[in-house]
Amino acid sequence: MGEKSWIQNRIKRREIDRYLNGGRDFINDEEIEAKLAVRPDKIKIREIFDKALHIETLSPLEAAMLINLKDRELIEEMKEVALKIKLLVYDNRIVTFAPLYLGDYCVNNCAYCGFRIENKEIERRILKDEEIREETEVLAGKIGHKRLIVVYGEHPRTDVNYIARSLESIYSVKVKVRNGYGQIRRANVNAAPMSIDELKQLRDVGIGTFQVFQETYHHKTYREVHPENTIKGDYQWRLYAMHRAFEAGVDDVGIGALFGLYDWRFEVMGLLYHAIELEKRFGIGPHTVSFPRLEPAANTPYIQNTKYKVSDEDFERIILVLRLAIPYTGMILTAREPRVIRDRVIPLGITQTDASTRIGIGSYSDRYTEQELERQQFQIGDPRSLDELIRDLTGMGYITSFCTAGYRCGRTGKCIMDLLRSGKEGNFCKLNAVLTFKEWLLDFASPETRRIGEELLKKEQEEIKQKLPGIYDTFKDYIQRIENGERDLYF
Ligand code: SAM
Ligand code: SF4
Repeated sequence: MGEKSWIQNRIKRREIDRYLNGGRDFINDEEIEAKLAVRPDKIKIREIFDKALHIETLSPLEAAMLINLKDRELIEEMKEVALKIKLLVYDNRIVTFAPLYLGDYCVNNCAYCGFRIENKEIERRILKDEEIREETEVLAGKIGHKRLIVVYGEHPRTDVNYIARSLESIYSVKVKVRNGYGQIRRANVNAAPMSIDELKQLRDVGIGTFQVFQETYHHKTYREVHPENTIKGDYQWRLYAMHRAFEAGVDDVGIGALFGLYDWRFEVMGLLYHAIELEKRFGIGPHTVSFPRLEPAANTPYIQNTKYKVSDEDFERIILVLRLAIPYTGMILTAREPRVIRDRVIPLGITQTDASTRIGIGSYSDRYTEQELERQQFQIGDPRSLDELIRDLTGMGYITSFCTAGYRCGRTGKCIMDLLRSGKEGNFCKLNAVLTFKEWLLDFASPETRRIGEELLKKEQEEIKQKLPGIYDTFKDYIQRIENGERDLYF
């Protein structure tokens, strides 16, 4: 099939229409603008805090009140509530991952992206199976990652068959390391929207979370930045990407908005409407929410001209409101953000972050270093290695979890949602976080990181002994087995 007919056949109209309500999608721009005009009321705000602390999704009107909150004292209280929610649902754990870019060919023309088809100034590349394995060997064998987010442009050469094959290549890599072996245990995918059949194909090769960002929920802005004659120009094909994922049995989905295209207040509301829609239809909300800010990209002047650039203060508010509005969801902060910002916002409720990040195609295996800058989609703000990040997080009292057990023993979708809401997932996660952190310290940590990591582990072990006495002996036995070289033990 030629490129042109491939493009023409991408969108399956019936896989959009079945979800529409009288021809309309679930984002009603006027309704959102009207809700955003609400004035916060002090008594109501405290009720909202209470609702969020019960891990209940907020209504759009309640979220709008938090967005518009100006009272300094209540904003400080909101920060405390955010942290409490994070601790209730996710304890003091942070999950780490690395992005892996496999191809930057793209048939779309998004005004803000360095990969857009009209950008003739980048040299494009798609990794072959062997090269994917080389990248994975570095990530899993040298750095020590266990989770990836694998990123693809939309192009016939990186279609669903390529994506499925690339996941198989990633999962096939097993590298001998210091005391055990390194392996990617979960590959999440950030790719263009797909049809139900294609998503079934990815489900069958063990896709992790399927991520598609709506970029902007505002219909008019969406049209302005995504030309109509492109696949991405179809707002609704993208908006219902997660509906199709659920139908295909991929029940772990990640939504997101690219902040800086339109008013951040509107986008936060859009993300909440999206979560509520998924909860209503499928009984499960998004497993993760992402909120990247627009970053400079090579030969992409649109970015300098946007009038919706998000300030650091507003970025903080975005995270706070999302933490309260969708209290069960995982929140991803990436290394696009500089370290000062990451240190400031992680305590507000972040659950996942990346490290040792490279976003050039083929750049982990260092073969293409000299062209790396041209190959990058945008610029990275925090270059810390995984070891450095873990050391810093440990210093802040966070335990870095490499746990992927939940996904492999059925704690996904509806099941994980119920566990998260009730705080019960925490018990499994605490144990698995400690086990996987122990593995990582043995296999990859520098002497200093290992030293402070082991200190934190001692505290965690003591907590497990107090809180989960029934399981403590088995847990101790697992720790011993890990020290003896066994890997991938989990509850
Ligand atoms: N091509 C697929 C798509 O658009 O859905 C997936 C890959 S795309 C490279 C992944 C994400 O990168 C996009 O969803 C967008 O939010 C983000 N992105 C694109 N340009 C960006 C920029 N200049 N700054 C920050 N994020 C950007
Ligand atoms: Fe292509 Fe995605 Fe970039 Fe748009 S954001 S140009 S679809 S890679």
